[in-house]
Amino acid sequence: MRKKTKFIHGGISRDPYTGAVSVPVHHASTFKQDGVGNFKYEYARTGNPTREVLEKLIADIEEGTRGFAFGSGMAAITAVIQLFSAGDHILATDDVYGGTFRVLTKVMNRFNIDVTFVDTSNLDAVRAAIRQNTKAIYVETPTNPLLKITDLRAIAGVARENGLKFIVDNTFSTPYWQNPLVLGADIVVHSATKYLGGHSDVVAGLVVVKDERLAEDLHFIQNSTGGILGPQDSWLLIRGIKTLGVRMEEIEANTRKIVEFLVAHPAVEKVYYPGLADHPGHEVHRSQADGFGGMISFTVESQEKALDVLNQTRYFTLAESLGAVESLISIPSLMTHASIPRERRLELGIEDGLIRISVGIEDAEDLLEDLGNALD
Ligand SMILES: *Cc1c(COP(=O)(O)O)cnc(C)c1O
Repeated sequence: MRKKTKFIHGGISRDPYTGAVSVPVHHASTFKQDGVGNFKYEYARTGNPTREVLEKLIADIEEGTRGFAFGSGMAAITAVIQLFSAGDHILATDDVYGGTFRVLTKVMNRFNIDVTFVDTSNLDAVRAAIRQNTKAIYVETPTNPLLKITDLRAIAGVARENGLKFIVDNTFSTPYWQNPLVLGADIVVHSATKYLGGHSDVVAGLVVVKDERLAEDLHFIQNSTGGILGPQDSWLLIRGIKTLGVRMEEIEANTRKIVEFLVAHPAVEKVYYPGLADHPGHEVHRSQADGFGGMISFTVESQEKALDVLNQTRYFTLAESLGAVESLISIPSLMTHASIPRERRLELGIEDGLIRISVGIEDAEDLLEDLGNALD
């Protein structure tokens, strides 16, 4: 089954009881047992039929064997970190998502899980950071907001050599463009709030693994800590995923046009986009993904100018988040990355005049006109 077909016919895809092509939302919290211990579903934290449809679907489209749905991307990431124990050490990409940075350095550290942030696009740096108690490498590629690329096959090799679990946050690329499990990752996580949901109307997180033992451990944590996704949100996500292929194709085409426009615009200084031939990691990204995605960052001369642009756009909505049908625009230095001290921020390359956009599926001509007016 090819990808676009799998989004619609993968997993369970229809209700075996009624034949309904849109699966029912099962709100039941508990299920009748045919005798003590004789049941298909027991209690809805442990397993719910609507959530199960979603979990089978994400496992299928990420080329894994088992999927798990959580109440947010952060709940999913937290559950994955809870696979580890006090005294363990994790290596993570230095510009991971802010919430991931926060949970690692302000929550999991209190349980004595230690983390080192490292430029995972530099293999030597990764090797040098491995300690005796290192248990995992946690990678995002492309990253936010500078779209830095990590070589997933190479990191998988380093992880294998050192007996480490390899975890990839695949939110930006989505399973339509990139399948980290096929490239050697052990665990894939998603903020399904973004492209998978796709309509800015659901907060959710997903995890996929291919190893049965790891699946058992994750289910144990999901059931023990209880951060599950509810049935209504599971259904919204199933519906969102059905159109992932067409949305990503449309977003890709719009993004290509916008990048061309920005590169040529005199008010734009730098453009960050993995599809540009001179983007660091362009070749690596091409070797591991089939598309470049809908995230673009670019710089204008100052924060004032950036604010000006944001105030003038009509279709690019000023908002955090990404991956929706509507185009979104933000200033990382004042929004997502405001909590990072300015000096550190500049070191990371997140300049004051940096603007990030998440391209939606509006008509490309409208988006170009809108950006053009705002920049002028
Ligand atoms: C948004 C996001 C998260 C967190 O997900 P939530 O659904 O907001 O909890 C994690 N990783 C990346 C890359 C994200 O963009």
